[in-house]
Amino acid sequence: MHGGNRRLEHKNLWAPWRIGYIQGLNERGECFICHNLQNPQDDDKNLVLWRSKCCIVVLNRFPYNNGHLLIAPARHIPGLDEATDEELLEMIKLVRESQKTLSLAIKPHGFNVGMNFGRCAGAGLPEHFHIHVVPRWDGDTNFMSVCSDTDVVSQSLTELLEQLKHISKEHNLPHL
Ligand SMILES: [Zn+2]
Repeated sequence: MHGGNRRLEHKNLWAPWRIGYIQGLNERGECFICHNLQNPQDDDKNLVLWRSKCCIVVLNRFPYNNGHLLIAPARHIPGLDEATDEELLEMIKLVRESQKTLSLAIKPHGFNVGMNFGRCAGAGLPEHFHIHVVPRWDGDTNFMSVCSDTDVVSQSLTELLEQLKHISKEHNLPHL
């Protein structure tokens, strides 16, 4: 049923540098966030949840857990030094709105919210920084070993995207 996911999770467990590369660049070697930004007609295919004034929010195609969202500035910049106050404020508000939406949709018990800078720190796309929002449930084990649990990511990404979009509309989210 989720054979594809299982294989990727297996790779993730044994070759994290490899999955990082897969995550960050699309098949044409482009930054996938910039590619998504430039192709709004493919938002559903690209798992784009929201576009805001300065940012984009997408479901991670290689999730650590169900509902793993990525929040990125629209500008292709590597870190906080280059971000404007407006971008930073919008990003943290989007963390809040992501948590709200995920809570309504899939009722996590907690969240990991974090950022990786540089490949050595696990950044799959070090040139375009982003915030990870990862839902957590009691008993889903620790952050990294979640990757190897074949049963954790049980909902299909397109189904989840539909659910999150529906809830966003219903509750007028994101409210920035
Ligand atoms: Zn980019």
